[in-house]
Amino acid sequence: MSSSMNGWRPTPTHSNHVALSIVVPFFNERAVLPLLYRRLRSVLDKLEISYEIVLVDDGSRDGSEHDLRELAISSSVVKLVRLSRNFGKEAALTAGLDQTSGDAVVILDADLQDPPELISQMLAAFHDGSDIVYMKRRSRTGETWGKQLSAHLFYRLLNRISSVAIPEDTGDFRLMSRRAVNALQRLPERNRYMKGLFAWVGFPTHVIEYDREARAAGTTKWNVLSLFGPALEGITSFSVAPLRWATAAGLLAALIGISFGLYVVLKTLVFGDPIGGYPSLIAVITFMCGIQLLSIGLVGEYVGKTYFETKQRPLYVILDVIETPATSSCTTARAEPKIHIVSN
Ligand code: UDP
Ligand code: MG
Repeated sequence: MSSSMNGWRPTPTHSNHVALSIVVPFFNERAVLPLLYRRLRSVLDKLEISYEIVLVDDGSRDGSEHDLRELAISSSVVKLVRLSRNFGKEAALTAGLDQTSGDAVVILDADLQDPPELISQMLAAFHDGSDIVYMKRRSRTGETWGKQLSAHLFYRLLNRISSVAIPEDTGDFRLMSRRAVNALQRLPERNRYMKGLFAWVGFPTHVIEYDREARAAGTTKWNVLSLFGPALEGITSFSVAPLRWATAAGLLAALIGISFGLYVVLKTLVFGDPIGGYPSLIAVITFMCGIQLLSIGLVGEYVGKTYFETKQRPLYVILDVIETPATSSCTTARAEPKIHIVSN
């Protein structure tokens, strides 16, 4: 793997001089790119650390792919990882993490909803010995109440039923030490619910609360329907409780059915009333069919997951990696005309 940190001296983890990698998944964010780059640079330059910004172009089609290329060619701190198409944020993050070489890695959304100014606080916690620094949202400016409520309910449900504690109200905004990243890279699954995977690896963790800002520019890539997918993904990746619910619901329905059957038989024997009860029959049949279809759907979710896991497809495909070979330190090196493109 090539590295834009060629000039770096390897430093022991948690020491004071740290080499930091920032990973930014990027999909159709043309409007926000100049703001993002300027703000990141101004924050990082003040920190007196070596750093690299790993931008993952997740198959952008709004013209930002050209802007990104220009930026990667002209900036000595940007490493651009271009994926061959849009693979989704989770795959883009995985691709970005695989390309980092810093002692610590910070993951940040491109739209500046995660303020880069907090990186200094995250680094402070890292120096104090935390391997993972979660950023917990105190407020979510610019998000509809529907999204806030569904996110709230989803996290609570997920934590009730999953075997690892997945922190509520956190996004992908976080710092991870090199060893935490290495541990994460050892998780081979295709169904990548990153927040769950981050939690699964464990490690000493620190939580910092922050106010989530509104998008700096551009539009969100999610809508109410596309939120349902990741929610189901999160639940089915980290818990088999829904399968147990299906069993429990089936058991309950069977018990009700048996009791009702006995009642009908006894009623017919005692009162000799063979007909009647048509509406209740329809109600029972509909109820049972509903439960059965739901259960089959649930089982299907898990079977589908297994199907995709068995295919063993790679998580993403890299088109190329564009970076300028930095001379000494990433923060001081100037861009060189020659660019370094690593093809997959
Ligand atoms: N993103 C991505 N691939 C996608 C969708 C989104 O890399 O298929 C990136 C996007 O560019 C942004 C981050 O994921 O940096 C979060 O996306 P967005 O802001 O749209 O989500 P929201 O903050 O509204 O949940
Ligand atoms: Mg956003």
